[in-house]
This record gives sequence, structure tokens and C-alpha cells, in this order.
Amino acid sequence: MSRVLLIQKCYHIEFSCHSRLEKQIFRKQNARSLLKENPKLEIRDQKLFLYIAHMKGLIFDIKHYAIHDGPGIRQTVFFKGCPLSCWWCHNPESQQPEVETYTRTKSLDGQTYPRQDTIGYYIAMDDLMGIIQSDTIFYDESGGGVTFSGGEPLMQPGFLKETASRCKNSNIHTALDTSGYAEQKILLEILPFIDLVLFDLKIMDDALHQQYTGVSNRMILENLAMLNESGKEVHLRFPVIPGITNTEKNLREIKNCLTKLNHIKHIDLLSYHDISRGKYKRFGKDDKMGSQKLKEGSMALIKKEFESLGLQVGTGG
Ligand code: SF4
Repeated sequence: MSRVLLIQKCYHIEFSCHSRLEKQIFRKQNARSLLKENPKLEIRDQKLFLYIAHMKGLIFDIKHYAIHDGPGIRQTVFFKGCPLSCWWCHNPESQQPEVETYTRTKSLDGQTYPRQDTIGYYIAMDDLMGIIQSDTIFYDESGGGVTFSGGEPLMQPGFLKETASRCKNSNIHTALDTSGYAEQKILLEILPFIDLVLFDLKIMDDALHQQYTGVSNRMILENLAMLNESGKEVHLRFPVIPGITNTEKNLREIKNCLTKLNHIKHIDLLSYHDISRGKYKRFGKDDKMGSQKLKEGSMALIKKEFESLGLQVGTGG
């Protein structure tokens, strides 16, 4: 590769590489292999070279044949790293923006042994595209596609944008499952490559939002208002969490907000369940929900209330 081409490519990738997390990934993952491939590179070019080519993302899972993350049969790619820390999070292993290790015990012949496991791995974009494209037949036959979920995919905007744009070039339907917590300019840059946005709406009161998720909802609500005006297809997702999001006050405020979103017509209710609480113990995370359970009939009541606003309400997510 010529030096001019190399530097042009560097600038392109560096431009796409918005977040500190992505910069760290490029530094850690690309340096050794790139420098090995180019032993004659001058020292002054080496720093630039770190950003080149084998763009990598940090993910923790890929689910094939997913049916609750958008239309049809989908592949869901779970990005690792989330700026929120919701009390009820079903994937607590998704929150840290780094590969984590933990020790678990395995039993064999009546003896127990400690075993080191890792959560999360770096994946090159070409490899991820290969996996996404391997299910094309299912997308075509079912009207499905790929869903970028997490964690928060918008924490790795450069990798997300490039992957989504490659999917669009291959005529693969793309959905973005997001908490909405990202700078608006990042969201605007990625939207052209996204067909459907699955957008979480949790708590309207800002102080309570901060208490239960760790961040303010101001940026989230601004992004929601922008999306409502954008004409992009948006499905809202409302997690029904006992004593937190299903309070009378929050439901009243959510309904009030929904009546103002005149272009958004679909909301999915996500039911809280405690089966993932075991993960908190396994991964040594603080479990703030304890043994709370959703009362029977709670989902049906909320569904009715939202339907009375003329919304299409789903409960399978
Ligand atoms: S936004 Fe989603 S992934 Fe992030 S902490 Fe909350 S529930 Fe978990």
C-alpha cells in the first residue's frame, strides 16, 4: 500500500472512530499485527497505522434465529459496553466496555475445580460480516435481517456504522436496539444505514432515571423527539419493572409523552423476569433488584392502557 493511500485510510478510520473505547480497541488489537505486516514502516507513521484496516468491535454474543428483535428471523449482535447500569438489566455482563474474566467452579467426579472464563471478545469486521451473511437465506425468506443490540451499540459508532453500511450494501435489513443515550450527531451519522430503531423508554422523572439507570434521561428524550420527526421507523420498548417503571406516576408520564410522539405507532412491553439474577451472582455483580417479581396481570393492564392511545402494543420482546 502506498504511503499516501495509507495515510488517507488512517484519516478515514480515525474519523469514524468516535469513542475512547474504539480508539482503545484499535490500539490494543491492531498494533502488533499491523506492525508485523509492515516492518519497514517509519516510526512517525506507526501511530497513524494503528487505526488502519482490520477494524474491530467488542461484542459478547451473537444470537442466530432471533425472533423478538425486529421483523422476521434475525441475527442479533450484542455489543459490549453500556453507559447505563439499569437495576433490572438482564445482561449485566454487557455493561463493562472491556473483556472481563471471572472464575467459576466446575464439578468433576465429586471434586470441584476453579475455571477461568472470559466475557466478550474482539471481532474483525470482515469476520462479523461473514457470520451475518451466513444467515442470508433466513432473512430473505422471513423478511428478517440483523439487529445490533447490547450493551449499547452506539458506544462503538465507527464499527457500528461501517458494519451497518456493509449490511445495507448487501441488502440486509438492519435494526438498532438502543438506550438512546448517545450524542445526537453520532445517531444522525448512523441512521442512514438503519431501517428500524428499537428505542428504550424507561422512566420519565429525571431524578428517578438517574437513580435507577445511573444517567440522566435528557439526551435520551431529545433523541427520541428527533427520531419522531425524522420519519425513521421506530418501535419503542418499555421494560415493565416492578415498583420502578410500572408505578402510577411513571405510567401517567409515559402516556403523556406517547401522546406527543405523533409519528411513532408501535411499542413493545418487555416483561421483567428474575431468571437472569443468577448471572449477577456468577459474575460477582451487585444485584439491587433482589427477589422482586411482576404481579400477575400487570402486563395486560399496561397493554390495555397503551392500546387506548391508539398504539400497536407488542408483548413478546
Ligand atoms: S440500557 Fe440495556 S444493556 Fe444497558 S444497562 Fe440498561 S438494560 Fe442493561
